Amino acid sequence: MRAAVVSEPGADFEVVKRDVPEPGPEEVRVAVEACGICRSDEFVVEGGYPGVSYPRVPGHEIAGTVDAVGEDVDAWEPGERVGAGWHGGHCFTCEACRRGQFLQCENAEITGLTFDGGYAEYATVPAEALAAIPDGLDAVDAAPLLCAGITTYNALRNSDARAGDLVAVVGVGGLGHLAVQYAHAAGYETVAISRSPDKESLARDLGADHFVNAAEADPAERLRELGGASVVLTTAPASDAIESVVGGLGTDGSVIIAGIPGEPVSVDAGQLVGTRGAVEGWGSGHARDSQDTLEFSALRDITPEIETFDLGDVDAAYERMAENEARFRVVLEP
Ligand SMILES: [Zn+2]
Ligand SMILES: [Zn+2]
Repeated sequence: MRAAVVSEPGADFEVVKRDVPEPGPEEVRVAVEACGICRSDEFVVEGGYPGVSYPRVPGHEIAGTVDAVGEDVDAWEPGERVGAGWHGGHCFTCEACRRGQFLQCENAEITGLTFDGGYAEYATVPAEALAAIPDGLDAVDAAPLLCAGITTYNALRNSDARAGDLVAVVGVGGLGHLAVQYAHAAGYETVAISRSPDKESLARDLGADHFVNAAEADPAERLRELGGASVVLTTAPASDAIESVVGGLGTDGSVIIAGIPGEPVSVDAGQLVGTRGAVEGWGSGHARDSQDTLEFSALRDITPEIETFDLGDVDAAYERMAENEARFRVVLEP
């Protein structure tokens, strides 16, 4: 099979021929039809993430079909359409797992980081890390939903916001353009906040009721004028963008960080005390959360805007993501 391999941190991709991997016990071999490129793949390409060994095949937005199953796999059969995201499996026995908090597993695997991922024609994945892909959702559309989609969908549905509440999304990019669609579909009064005024018509097409051009207006002031936000989901990985919305929370509101800035976030504690507000984080979800994301996306016709590339063009594809030029998610088709 063909696979795009990173031989060591900082190295270029090498597209190589490899043996098709055999699934071990409780593993499933997936014939990869599509794999999204995510900013978190930088952890493999540039190094620095604990638990990653090399050479490594990145890719944690895998969509494909079950090709073969290992011993003791009852849940999946060859031919079924499946996906795998960031959460690549759990031990079932640690304290977090005993409480059903599989994402917090002390021995969690990460797809494309602790084992080879989807920048390849085949990948073997622990059976508990797979989500079923519903009919009617193409593999290339499903792939980005397994990281960018689940992160925003799961953050919003686990928040305290109820239908009709004011919910804002900061950034209309890879995560944000999905978050706006989920917020609209959930029945929230939806605000898109961006520094690019040219994103306004797209944001409104995706379901935003309001658009705030953060290059000109103070987003916190605009949110207060609209009554104060129950939730502001920040997808732009910039601390000043996060800091700029804390003053826009309504009573008991939360700023939920989904895009991680490279520097600390500083918060005016007085604003938090005044609103009983919070600044918190959210990341991804487990395989059933992934499946919920895919099912809801199919139900409400929510898809990502994507650019597709052949696996052989992985360098160009990765560059589109790394340079922030993609509109909005890049997907490899092995
Ligand atoms: Zn990701
Ligand atoms: Zn565990």
